[in-house]
This record gives sequence, structure tokens and C-alpha cells, in this order.
Amino acid sequence: MRLFVDWDGTITVRDSLVQVIHEFGDASLLAELEPRVGVDLTLHEEIALEFDAVRTSLDEVVEWVTENVEVRPGLAELAELRPVVVSAGFYELIEPVLRREGIQLEVLANRVDARPDGWRVQFRDEAACATCGEPCKRGGLAGEPYAYVGDGYSDRCAALAAERVFARDSLARHLDDRGMAYERFETLDEVATLLRGTRATD
Ligand SMILES: [Mg+2]
Ligand SMILES: [Zn+2]
Repeated sequence: MRLFVDWDGTITVRDSLVQVIHEFGDASLLAELEPRVGVDLTLHEEIALEFDAVRTSLDEVVEWVTENVEVRPGLAELAELRPVVVSAGFYELIEPVLRREGIQLEVLANRVDARPDGWRVQFRDEAACATCGEPCKRGGLAGEPYAYVGDGYSDRCAALAAERVFARDSLARHLDDRGMAYERFETLDEVATLLRGTRATD
């Protein structure tokens, strides 16, 4: 079975986009816009507006991210299962952290043009999803069955279409509310062990 894993708050301990906004952007904008996602803003619209307020050079932000973004224990064990990282964040801020960890993974993410007058996000997929009505991760994963590991809003729709879900934080609460089955995780080696266990007994 294919394995897709979210980046922010799933592989990373904290959401690195939120960390970057707090460090280089406008935290009040984040506080104002975040509750509006799924109400009168799409996640893409939220991200685009928040990063328009970031004016720092990409080099400087990459350096900060490389020094400050922490990954959950067990990334190396999970990487052995060849997951694909699927993120609403930016390839430019994910790849340096993977490189620091000495891990190579396929990454499906957005790209960013770090302009001095405000970062412009280049979204990988802008097509509205037939299920949730906004551009989401689900469309890009369609086809063969998959397992999904995630923590937040961007994972909801893709998790609902997965054969097996590992969830923490607000994704776990969302699945609880809907009465959906999932396995709770805090570290990535827990996920790897559970996936390997299934494989061994199949
Ligand atoms: Mg996340
Ligand atoms: Zn969707």
C-alpha cells in the first residue's frame, strides 16, 4: 500500500509555516485568518495572504528553518517505508530540513517565489476537490489504496479516502467527531512499527 505523510505538525514537531509566520511575517494576520479557513477562505487563500506579508529573503528563512524546525523521533524508521511527503507548505522549506536529517523522500508540495515585496505562493494543484470543494490533497493521491499520516486541516479530506489513517492533534479530533477509525500517534517510529506489524501478519 502507498504511504502518504503530511509535513507540518506530522513529520515536524510544530507547524513550520506557523513558525515562519511568527518569525518573519504577521502573527496577527495568522490569528485573524486561521479561524476563517473552511468558512469564507480556502486553505490556499489563507496561506497566500499570510505569506504575502513575508518579505525576508528565502536564504535567510531557509537558514532559520534549518536551525529551528525539529522533526519527530523515528523519521529514519518511517523513511525506510518510502513514504511520499504531501504538504500544503513549500518545497523550498521542506527539502533543507530533510537534507539536514540525511533523508531523501519524494515531496509533493507547493513552491514559493520569495519576492522582496511579499512571497508569492505557486500552488501545485489549484483544482477544487469534488468532495470538499476546495483545492486539497485528496485529488493528487487518487488511484491505488493508501495509508495516510497527518495532523491538521489540510489532511482531512485525504484522510477520509485512506485505507488506514494515523492521526494526531486536530485531525484526530475531526475524525473523532465524524466517528471515523484511525490510529493515534505521537512519534514516527510508532507509525513505522504499526505499518510493519500489519505487513508481517498479512
Ligand atoms: Mg500538518
Ligand atoms: Zn478534498
